[in-house]
Amino acid sequence: MKSERSERSKNSVCSDAIRLLDLYSEAASQSLILQQAQFQAVVADDAESNRFDLLIHAANERKQNAKYLYLNHLHNHGCSYEQLRNASKDLNAVVDAPLTKTAGKV
Ligand SMILES: [Zn+2]
Repeated sequence: MKSERSERSKNSVCSDAIRLLDLYSEAASQSLILQQAQFQAVVADDAESNRFDLLIHAANERKQNAKYLYLNHLHNHGCSYEQLRNASKDLNAVVDAPLTKTAGKV
């Protein structure tokens, strides 16, 4: 008897995985928006630019939680592994890169 996981096509996209990836993407985007806002405040010599610290911390926690919900789903469900793994790599590249690039231009 085949398990549910082994019968699922590696290329099929599960709606739960898509939803979780969307949540992860949205959380990552919110984190970047806050980091960008803090960066702009620092550049503008805003003495209270640290007001973003707690917001960024909370946003990063939401991002990590969303990431692990997504990754745990892939692991437990075994759906669309190849396709979503590539999407996850792209998302991680987007999440990790922009702030470093932006900071490097100053
Ligand atoms: Zn799934």
